[in-house]
Amino acid sequence: MSESFKVLIVDDSPIYRKLVEQALSDNALSVLVATNGQQALQIIEREHPSLVITDWVMPDVTGATLCRKIRAESSASYTYVILLTSNAEKEQVVAGLTAGADDYLTKPFDQSELRARVQVGRRLIDLQRQLEAKNKLLQELALTDSLTGLPNRRAAEDWAARQLSGAARHGFSFWVAIADLDHFKGVNDKYGHQAGDGVLQKFASVLRTHTRLSDICARIGGEEFIQVVTYADEANALLVIERIRKAFEEDPFIFGGKPIPVTASFGLAGFCGKRAPKFSELLRQADAALYCAKNLGRNRVEMASMRR
Ligand code: GH3
Ligand code: MG
Ligand code: MG
Repeated sequence: MSESFKVLIVDDSPIYRKLVEQALSDNALSVLVATNGQQALQIIEREHPSLVITDWVMPDVTGATLCRKIRAESSASYTYVILLTSNAEKEQVVAGLTAGADDYLTKPFDQSELRARVQVGRRLIDLQRQLEAKNKLLQELALTDSLTGLPNRRAAEDWAARQLSGAARHGFSFWVAIADLDHFKGVNDKYGHQAGDGVLQKFASVLRTHTRLSDICARIGGEEFIQVVTYADEANALLVIERIRKAFEEDPFIFGGKPIPVTASFGLAGFCGKRAPKFSELLRQADAALYCAKNLGRNRVEMASMRR
């Protein structure tokens, strides 16, 4: 793991601070030191160490209180805590573990034992980081269409709901076009499903190249896509969608050395005003406009009347 593994040593005794530091010196760790509990809390907030080795008795904050404060923090990543107590205080170990410590060691401690226990903590933290990375990936996958790599319906709906309320609050326009490929069943029938998939990917790439950073395109169903255009007046929104329609028509997907002629129909609906409609309502209007586009001969863009 490339990220450095930060260890914070908390002890009011300079001798023990040195002993712990020495014990950890030959490990690939980045070591931070605090001389009291308050300082420890500040360092934890600033540096987010993965592991804390703390003394039990300190003048300001006890090790147990420190544990409780670390656990009360709703930090995204886990902090592994090892308590260092003297033998006489061993009965307090239960209190320390209850307060949230993961492990303890009694003073005077054996340096190789401390190193071994730090390694245990490190293994646990590394596993946790891997789990976090996997979770992040799963979340991304759950929002991505696997065939085209575009955001899927759920991702588009989440994004659009937020963007729509922003449009109402800040007074910018919000347009959504639903695109549906024309006679696409015929493409599958004539060229096969694999060619059909290629056409879908081609359409996705056309959408992507026409999408500004502030906008989004998504695949919301089999051969249905959406394109959102913000900060545009009616004429400009139409222009953007018309450009996509034309680009797709003029640059066909090549399959087996031959172009597959496919077109798409679009229904466009928009909003600019103070009370945002539900995204599903705008989609319904765009869908009605798409239905018109299909009825009027396909390969065209139709517009629903603008909501205010
Ligand atoms: P229209 O112009 O009225 O939209 O006609 P259409 O044939 O495009 O519409 P229809 O809804 O009858 O057919 C849609 C087709 O899209 C049928 C289905 O096989 C195809 N399809 C949906 N998802 C996929 C996919 O992931 N891959 C492929 N290759 N085809 C798909
Ligand atoms: Mg369809
Ligand atoms: Mg279709």
